[in-house]
Formats: sequence, structure tokens, C-alpha cells
Amino acid sequence: MRILIDMDEVIADAVALFLKWYERDFGIRYTEKDVYGTKLLHIVPEAHKSTVAAYPHTKGFFDDLPVIPNSQEILKQLYEAHEVYIVSAAMEFKHSLYPKFEWLEQHFPFIHWKRRVLCGDKSVIKGDVLIDDHDFNLETFTGRRVMFTSPHNVHDTRFERMNNWLEAKQFFDLK
Ligand SMILES: [Mg+2]
Repeated sequence: MRILIDMDEVIADAVALFLKWYERDFGIRYTEKDVYGTKLLHIVPEAHKSTVAAYPHTKGFFDDLPVIPNSQEILKQLYEAHEVYIVSAAMEFKHSLYPKFEWLEQHFPFIHWKRRVLCGDKSVIKGDVLIDDHDFNLETFTGRRVMFTSPHNVHDTRFERMNNWLEAKQFFDLK
């Protein structure tokens, strides 16, 4: 089975870094619950929006992302059992391309470079299963569409859902 795995909000916790950088810059600590069904950019005061919008375009953002819990060990099991690819729309953020490569080297060294697809539009990618947090990536996918839970998508009921990596074990029948 060819399984495609997104990076941000599936194996890399970008929301955590948005909240951390916002607290650093403005002294206000929002929680994940505060961004359920939305994004930080949409709930901050107007005067802060340009700063928040610039975070993923800033050097250093993609170097620093925490790893989503249990993703390393379970993805390794999955990788050994199936044809697994990391598929990330890295072209959206010009400072993300090399950091994403390095981040994978550091946290997921077992994933061969041939299995790392850093791309633009994911709709050109084909596979049996796509695990992604964004509806627009799942909408165009022709295989089995699995929404990985992230605060922004908690209210979306259109796809199969995976809430965390422990659920992936059951989903793919891993030991
Ligand atoms: Mg994502």
C-alpha cells in the first residue's frame, strides 16, 4: 500500500510554534482550544495579524517544530510495512525547503530521500492513502482520505479521521 504522509500538523507541530512565538512577541498565551475550528491568525487583534502571518515565512520557523507525539516510532513501523512517502507542500514557504529536509534527517532519518516529496500542489500526487490535516489536500486526492486532527479542522466531518498516531496503529493493523 502506498501511504502519503503530510508534515505540518501530522508529524510536525506547527500550531505549537505559532502559539509559542505569539506569546514571545505579545505576551499572550493562547491554547490549542482557543484555535479550535480556526487559526491563530484569525483570532489575534488586527494589529498583530501581519506579524503572525509572517511566522512561516521567517527563517528559523521550520527548524524548530516539535515532533507530534508517537509519530516517530509508529511511522517507522508503518514505513517497514508499506510504501510510505512524506508529502509536504514546502514550496509555499521559501525558507521551509531546506529546514524540512534537515528536520526529517534529524527526526525521521529512516525515511529515504526517494520517499520525501517536497512539492507545490499535492493534487498531482497519487497513492492509496493520504493522511493530511488540510481539507483542500484531501478534497483532490483520489485514494482513501484521512484527516489528521489539528485544532483548525476539529469540526470537519467529511473525511475519515485519525486523531493521533496511536490510532494509526489500529488503522493500519500494526502490532
Ligand atoms: Mg499539514
